[in-house]
Amino acid sequence: MPIRSGAESHKLSDLLLLINQVSFSQVLDKWCCSFTTDGSFSVSGFRKLLDSAPMGMWPTHLCKVVPPKINFFIWRLRQNRLRDKSNLCDRGVVIPRVLCSSCDIQIEDAHHVFFRCIVADQVWVTIAGWLNIPLPKWQCFEDLWQWCMTFSSIPQKVIVTEVICYATLWTLWRYRNGVIFSPSKFKKCYIIDSIVLSAFEWLSSRYKKATISWTSWLQDPLLSL
Ligand SMILES: [Zn+2]
Repeated sequence: MPIRSGAESHKLSDLLLLINQVSFSQVLDKWCCSFTTDGSFSVSGFRKLLDSAPMGMWPTHLCKVVPPKINFFIWRLRQNRLRDKSNLCDRGVVIPRVLCSSCDIQIEDAHHVFFRCIVADQVWVTIAGWLNIPLPKWQCFEDLWQWCMTFSSIPQKVIVTEVICYATLWTLWRYRNGVIFSPSKFKKCYIIDSIVLSAFEWLSSRYKKATISWTSWLQDPLLSL
């Protein structure tokens, strides 16, 4: 007969005690979703879970009206995971110049590309004129997002402004990539047209409540819905 040590006997008795506490029901086993109250899985429930998941100081928040690649881009921007020159240097990538390829004055990081570069500044001023509202001078994405979520009590205006801001950030990033990798492809004069068109296409195709005419969109996007 095997001889058990005192510690082993103790573990075994603890285990038996735990097993005795288990009660079995007659209900058939089934898969249960842990993040919904009734245990059933739904895509909308999963989206709510993602939206409530903290990311730094703010909830994740996925915008339904923009394509998934834009939400992913914004997520990377918020996490400071874009491959700007500053981040590449921090990760040991050898690059010839860390200065911004657009202005050639300051080190290129996300704050600079999207908010502090003279190109970004000119673009935001033009967007403010189109929206017909004064825009604050943001220094980072969180400043922009917080303003965007609270600047109006009308949900449609918040959504339109959020989409336009995302289109602006996305276009500034595409322009930045164009300057570095293919200067002849994406010229500065195309930036505003690209923002206006992208935001219109996203809203028209993805926002069920939107019926927007192109003419009213060009004149005043916040009154076009
Ligand atoms: Zn610059």
